[in-house]
Amino acid sequence: MKCLLHVGVVAAVLTISSAGLACAQSGPYPASDLHQLYQQLLGKINAIPLYDNHAHPGFADDPDVDAMAAPPEESSVLRLRDDNPEFVTAAKSLFGYPYDDFRPEHAKWLADRTNAAKKSGGSAYFDQILDKLNVETCLANRAFMAPYLDTKRFHWVFFGDSFFYPFDNRDQTASTPDMGVYIPLQEKMLMRYRKQMKLDGLPADLGGYETFVRNTMAENQKHGGVAMKYEAAYFRSLYFSDPAREKAEAIYAKYRSGGVPSAEEYRIFQDYIFRLMVDEAGKLKLPLHFHTAVGIGDYFSLRQGNVLNLENVLRDPRYKSTIFVLVHGGWPYEKEAALLTAVKNVYLDTSFQSELLYPSQFKDILKQLLTLFPDKMMYGSDAFPFSDALGAEESFWLAAHTTRTALAAALAELVSERAVTQDKALELARLYLHDNAAKLYRSVSTGGTK
Ligand SMILES: [Zn+2]
Repeated sequence: MKCLLHVGVVAAVLTISSAGLACAQSGPYPASDLHQLYQQLLGKINAIPLYDNHAHPGFADDPDVDAMAAPPEESSVLRLRDDNPEFVTAAKSLFGYPYDDFRPEHAKWLADRTNAAKKSGGSAYFDQILDKLNVETCLANRAFMAPYLDTKRFHWVFFGDSFFYPFDNRDQTASTPDMGVYIPLQEKMLMRYRKQMKLDGLPADLGGYETFVRNTMAENQKHGGVAMKYEAAYFRSLYFSDPAREKAEAIYAKYRSGGVPSAEEYRIFQDYIFRLMVDEAGKLKLPLHFHTAVGIGDYFSLRQGNVLNLENVLRDPRYKSTIFVLVHGGWPYEKEAALLTAVKNVYLDTSFQSELLYPSQFKDILKQLLTLFPDKMMYGSDAFPFSDALGAEESFWLAAHTTRTALAAALAELVSERAVTQDKALELARLYLHDNAAKLYRSVSTGGTK
């Protein structure tokens, strides 16, 4: 490609660009400055405050950290097993943990500390975790918020899946051992929403149920909800058809007072209610979050959970005022997810990838994402209280550490290969780690979508 810069402009650019990349020509290999660039960028990246688009902050014994629970059989990936020595490093870095392993007599030191924080109440404990990791704001994807989370720093993301399960769910519950755990929790969640909205039984007709769904969304938003999340990929396909209202109305009338819907009838009803929620989310300026990655448990369907199943909804012009966020960035279909963020109202975050993958692996993914739609990607941790040893605290640390080092490495390569300047690299880092999310949630809270 021809260089379009004139000589005079070149001189001007050289004086303002630290990398001096006028007539830049990218190459396939990094130059010898790679490691030096990495160190320089990492120092600057560490100083950028994080805006965490997705986490489950809380203590390990708090059932509200999620609307679902771990399935009965779960094969943990290598990095998230209890014996990962990085968790010891995390505990040392966060709390000055004095031991080199989590042997029970040592782990007690951490458990005592956590229990003391729990007893003392107040919100200082989790605020301090954010401060230590230079996290400015964190979205808390929880069933309900906890009094020990500071709502100035932790913004609530509530769940929408329970609206899918108003009928007799015995067939759903019996379909796999995992659904045997998940569905009763959805029923419980729906009961809590009904109680919140002072609804004794199910409304008499579909119109009443629609009002209940819309009003609960609006009320949760009023109570501080900044987005609504679907874990639907765990329960069903992410492909949602577009059924006529009459069909959903007939199914509601048939099963409202009892009887077990067929799988097909339930799916049609859910597809209809889903689209109603997408429509309402657009009106409320309430972003929708979707679990889009492989999930835990032996029965998670990779095919049904593939982010491409959402394409018909994401590209539907009727929903262009609804903001969609592809949480976990679609992994292992992260390229597909990234390409879907070409749609103006579609974003992604890289939560969970930053815990599951080591920095060297995550670096390659970030390098790709940064060169596609860097104004649509957001940082996320998916921090979760896995156990007493691996608390939300340690997983916050793991995600922040992985992301900052992988990002510095990805950008160092791009600078060293003369693809972008160092200034541009830092601009991309700020967008991803903080600014894209800050702008998105500020725009919806002020009622605009621009
Ligand atoms: Zn999550």
